[in-house]
Amino acid sequence: MTTPDQRKQPKTTVDLVVDGATIVTMDPQNRVITHGAMAVDHGGILAIGPRDSILDSYTGKDWLSLDGDIVMPGLINCHTHIPMAVMRGVADDMALGKWLFEYVFPAENSLTLDRFQTGAEISLAEMIASGTTCFADMYYFQHELAHVVARAGVRAVLAASYKDLPSPDFPSADAALEGARRFIMDFHGHELITPALGPHSTYTLASEPLRKTAALAEETGALVLVHASETSGEVKMAMEKHGASPIEVLRRTGLLTPQSVLAHCVKVTQAEMETIAAAGASVAHCPDSNMKLASGIAPVTAMKRAGVRVVIGTDGPVSNNDQDMFAELRSAALVAKAADEDPEALPAMDVLRMATIEAARALHMDSRTGSLEPGKRADFIVVDIHRPHLQPFTNVFSHLAYSARGSDVSFTFVNGRRLYERGEFRTIDWERLEARAKTAWADLKKAIPVPWEKPPATPA
Ligand SMILES: [Zn+2]
Repeated sequence: MTTPDQRKQPKTTVDLVVDGATIVTMDPQNRVITHGAMAVDHGGILAIGPRDSILDSYTGKDWLSLDGDIVMPGLINCHTHIPMAVMRGVADDMALGKWLFEYVFPAENSLTLDRFQTGAEISLAEMIASGTTCFADMYYFQHELAHVVARAGVRAVLAASYKDLPSPDFPSADAALEGARRFIMDFHGHELITPALGPHSTYTLASEPLRKTAALAEETGALVLVHASETSGEVKMAMEKHGASPIEVLRRTGLLTPQSVLAHCVKVTQAEMETIAAAGASVAHCPDSNMKLASGIAPVTAMKRAGVRVVIGTDGPVSNNDQDMFAELRSAALVAKAADEDPEALPAMDVLRMATIEAARALHMDSRTGSLEPGKRADFIVVDIHRPHLQPFTNVFSHLAYSARGSDVSFTFVNGRRLYERGEFRTIDWERLEARAKTAWADLKKAIPVPWEKPPATPA
C-alpha cells in the first residue's frame, strides 16, 4: 500500500487529513463519497473528494485513517435546555402541571450557578459523545454558561429564557432583556457562541415584553428561540391571556420572522402553518419530549407541505430524557409515519437533512456548518460502521436514520478541533464531572420529593 509520504510531490500540508471514509456530505446533491478523504486546515474544510485525488494534493500534520467509517456533518439540536441534565430522571410518568410545579420549578429554584454549570457540562459531554456539534439552547445564566460551552468547544446558539415571573438569573423580563443586550454585545462575532433572545412563551409573557423582544431582535439581528403551541393547555392559556393563539400572538407582536425558531408547534392549525411559512420562521420538532409529556404529535408533514422549515430538537433532559440526536431523528421519522398512517411520511433523507443542513439554515449558520463542503467550518463526526446493527453496510441513509445510535460515534470535531476520540473527551474532565454530578444530586434531592427511592411493590 502506498503511504502518504511516497506519493508524488508537491503537496500542500494541512492540519488534518481524514482518509478512507464514506463521506456523507449533505450537500445540495446529497453526495456520498465512498473511499473519500477530506483536507482540514485552520478549522475549515479545504478540500473533499475521492481518496486518490485528495491524497495526491494534500498531506496532513495530523492524520485520521478510517476503515470505511462514515464521516458526516455533526448533528444540530435545535431545541434544548442543557443545564437541566442535572435534574435528569427527577420526574417521569406524570402530568405536565405536577411535573412543573412539584419537581422542575422547586428543583430549579434550589440550583446554584455551579449546579447549572454541572448540568450544562454533563449535556455537553453527552452531546459530544453522541455526535452533536451544534445546538440551540434557552435556559438561565447563558452569559455565564457561554464560557463553559466555548471551553468544551461546541458550537451553540444560546438564549437566556425569561418570563413575567422572576427567573433564577433575572428578576423580570425587562432585566432579562437588558442582560440579553449585553450578552449579544459581548459575544458578537464569537467563533462558537451565537447569542440570541429567549422569550419563554406567549403564555408566560405579556404582550409588552414580547414586543420589546421583537424590537431588540430587529435592532441586533439576533435569533429568537421561543416555545409555541406545545400543548392544547398552552393554547388555552394564551387565549385567556391574550385573546389569541400563541402563533397569532407571536405574529401580532412581531416575533414571527425568519429569525425565529419556534419549539414544538404540536397544536397548530392549517392557517397557522401557512402563517409560519409565509413569515419564514422555523419550527423545532421535539418528538420524544412531546410523546413523553403526552403533548401530542406535531403535524410535521403538514407543516412541511405548507412550506415551513421543520428541524429537530431533543428538548431538555428532564422531558426526553436524553440528548441523543440519532434517537431523536429516528423518533421523528417513525412517529410521522404512525401519525399519518403513511409509511412514506418523513423518509430517512428528510430527517437527516432536518438534523444537519436544514437545522443550519434555521440557525442562519448554513454558510459555516450543516454540510461537508469546502469553505465551511470542519464540524464533523465519525460513525463506526463496524457494529452488528450497521451490517451489512448497504444503504447509508437508511442506516443513519433507522439503525445508528449516538454511541456509534467514534470521533467528534468542531471547527477542526478534536473533541472526542473513541470514548475519550479532549475538552472535558469526565472523572471530575461525574463526581460533581453525584454531589449535585445529593443537594438537589433535598428540594424535591424522591418517591422512587422507596418504590411501591408491584402486585403479582
Ligand atoms: Zn423546551
